[in-house]
Amino acid sequence: MQKGNISVQTENIFPIIKQFLYSEREVFLRELVSNAVDATTKLNTLAKRGEVEGEVGDITIEILLDEAAKTLTIRDKGIGMTEEEVNKYLNQVAFSSAQEFIEKYQGEANIIGHFGLGFYSAFMVASKVEVVTKSYQPNAVPVKWTCLGTPEYTIEAAERDFRGTDIILHIENPEDKEFLENDHVESLLQKYCKFLPVPIQFGMRKDYIEEGEGEEATEKEIEIPNLINNPSPAWTKQPAELTDEDYKNFYNELYPYSTPPLFWIHLNIDYPFNLTGILYFPKVGNSIEVQKNKIQLYSNQVYVTDEVKEIVPEFLTLLHGIIDSPDIPLNVSRSYLQSDSNVRKSQATLLKK
Ligand code: ADP
Ligand code: MG
Repeated sequence: MQKGNISVQTENIFPIIKQFLYSEREVFLRELVSNAVDATTKLNTLAKRGEVEGEVGDITIEILLDEAAKTLTIRDKGIGMTEEEVNKYLNQVAFSSAQEFIEKYQGEANIIGHFGLGFYSAFMVASKVEVVTKSYQPNAVPVKWTCLGTPEYTIEAAERDFRGTDIILHIENPEDKEFLENDHVESLLQKYCKFLPVPIQFGMRKDYIEEGEGEEATEKEIEIPNLINNPSPAWTKQPAELTDEDYKNFYNELYPYSTPPLFWIHLNIDYPFNLTGILYFPKVGNSIEVQKNKIQLYSNQVYVTDEVKEIVPEFLTLLHGIIDSPDIPLNVSRSYLQSDSNVRKSQATLLKK
């Protein structure tokens, strides 16, 4: 076993993380699942280049809840980490490998990254975090990193015969016990992960199939994987691929049981910054829907917020739909959004459209 101190500029960043990193603690889940997506995207990129030995196989990200053990685990079958990488990326805080990867494989991978202290947001809710990881590299040795929310950590050999990473959060604080509740975790995944580009599974769910034919037909209950997300939502496609029906269906996906929209515009802007999305013009008259079906802001298919006043000019806020821009920072607080130059530029561009 190896011991060390997490190296950061300040004496102890943990109190800072717990109090000030994000206004809402729940975003830790967004951060960790986004990291799992990044790890999977990186693996796919390397596989396309023939740099991964053997089969890529199933890449579904799993969220595992164990109420008795008080753990929430985020499991990916992505790129994994060697001991050296754990040291570099987890122990030297504020060093992001996302940057490095993008520089190396420019234009080949859509990495979410850049959220800030993404990984360490785990300590907003966890009293202990374990990372069990095995790199995709041939003969990689699996390792386990453990940290109790103090600057000390340990690294030791681990058992794991499959590629990828488990982030195991031990949630002990009674204040945080909602993060061990099935329904609450499901609702957070629905909020932040609904359109992430890699399949995300949260346990199993019941489904019904027809057995037999005609009069003999009976319904049979079966269990199927509970998949949270639609990995390729309408706005990520080309308008030419989509029918009116597709646009209406997507509206329904965003706002179930709503009155169909009147018409829509599919945004695809790449200058002066990247922005995609679909904005719908609702049927006026239903004021409840106008208020409820707010425009949602995404960054690389990760949900950020539906408070978009700073981005969408006031008179357009009666529109519905989604805007996705990788250039909008995700560690957003309101005041930050107002001062961000990309945000100001996006306002101007939307207005022109
Ligand atoms: P960022 O995502 O912006 O790079 P994070 O703090 O979220 O910053 O993560 C730090 C780094 O830790 C990542 O860049 C990545 O190298 C590594 N990492 C975190 N989670 C995983 C994971 N599930 N699989 C592989 N590497 C990971
Ligand atoms: Mg991250």
